[in-house]
Amino acid sequence: MTKEQSEALFQRGLKVLVEGVSSASRGPATFGGAPRYMSHGAGARLYDVDGRDYIDWMMAFGALPLGHAHPKVVETITREVARGTHFATALEVEVEVAEMLVALLPHVDKVRFANTGTEAAMAAFRLARGHTGRRKIIKFEGHYHGWWDAVLVNTNPLPPTMLGHPNDPIRIPDSSGIPEEAWKDTIVVRWNDFDALERAMALHGRDAACVVTEGVMSNMGVIPPKPGYLNRMQELCHQYGALFYLDETVTGFRLAAGGAAELYGLSPDIVTYGKALGGGLPMAMIGGRNEIMAGLEWGKVLHFGTHNAGRLALHLTKVMLETMLADNQAGFARIKELGLKMAAEMRQVAKASNRHGMVVQGVNSMFQIFFTKKEEIADYRDFCTHVDRTKFRDFALRLMDKGIYMNPSATLHSLSSIAHTEADIAATARAMAEVLEEMP
Ligand code: PMP
Repeated sequence: MTKEQSEALFQRGLKVLVEGVSSASRGPATFGGAPRYMSHGAGARLYDVDGRDYIDWMMAFGALPLGHAHPKVVETITREVARGTHFATALEVEVEVAEMLVALLPHVDKVRFANTGTEAAMAAFRLARGHTGRRKIIKFEGHYHGWWDAVLVNTNPLPPTMLGHPNDPIRIPDSSGIPEEAWKDTIVVRWNDFDALERAMALHGRDAACVVTEGVMSNMGVIPPKPGYLNRMQELCHQYGALFYLDETVTGFRLAAGGAAELYGLSPDIVTYGKALGGGLPMAMIGGRNEIMAGLEWGKVLHFGTHNAGRLALHLTKVMLETMLADNQAGFARIKELGLKMAAEMRQVAKASNRHGMVVQGVNSMFQIFFTKKEEIADYRDFCTHVDRTKFRDFALRLMDKGIYMNPSATLHSLSSIAHTEADIAATARAMAEVLEEMP
């Protein structure tokens, strides 16, 4: 199992790239050393520079519902790139894709395209503040909405002694360089806790521009919302006049054609999408009803961007939507089926092994395994207190040596694509069983 080329590239990279990579989560902090350098992908497989191949369950953090190098993606890019890369002008495909999105999402009358989940969220928060004339943002422990200063608070796991009282979490920004003014109006609330939410809304709801939530907690493994929890959140937002902002960056075009909003019967005031939306290229969007989206008109809340509505990415969004929606949304049914099967197999393997405490949690095409003695990880506090992240990394790195690629960070999750097969699931389960035997 040679890793020579990856090691050599890492040594070269360390001299010219910070930690050898371009995103802090891709480097030694996650891998404990050299990451695998990938050369190409096809279907559900990634191939590294040392000639090894992997069943990829990371799928570019969720950006690839069609898998790697889907024939329609390759054909579309090849055709379109010959007609120019980017114009920064109005485009026919921009109108077409917006029409498809508005037709699919009942809570969305208009969209505005951006490039990344972070950017879309920044515009959405500014829009919420502009629309309501209020300053406060209510967010939840362990929820990530991009790396912008105002919401980069309590997004990473903390030691249990630093969590504070569940009614009043200790607020901690996840980076230096973030001045207190940037997050002083950000209220952090325990998620999946009805009482904490009622209390926070009674205290801050009237001053809140929005309450922002992930539909499924996706940046602490996979933690589904308790039944009725998000619906109650939506009601409370209406009661206090705060916008209900559902961040669908992960869940959009993944959990269902209508995202977490469809799955849980929600009608959010603002949504943002990213990742899967672009079918592999950077594409994001802010969406909402007319009266809210009108706030982005010239002279009101500003949103610019040289690369907004990139034509190649929009063509891929169109391909992704057409492919996933064909035959009565068969693509979404397929990734759900595969995700549920993989999670069920993982549960079987975990049960059979009986050597390590484990629980597998998932929603449709998303799943994660937690090394824990608990039967369920129900929120961020459970995660911080009861999940063994070091053990998970050992597990994921051993799986990698057997040709199964899962991100070694327990805070992330695995994802199915339409390119995965039942044979991939069986191979992954076999490798998992071996790894669980080998692990100390
Ligand atoms: N929101 C959520 C829920 C996310 O998980 C992420 C990315 N992990 C973002 C926003 C930011 O997206 P991006 O990385 O495209 O900026």
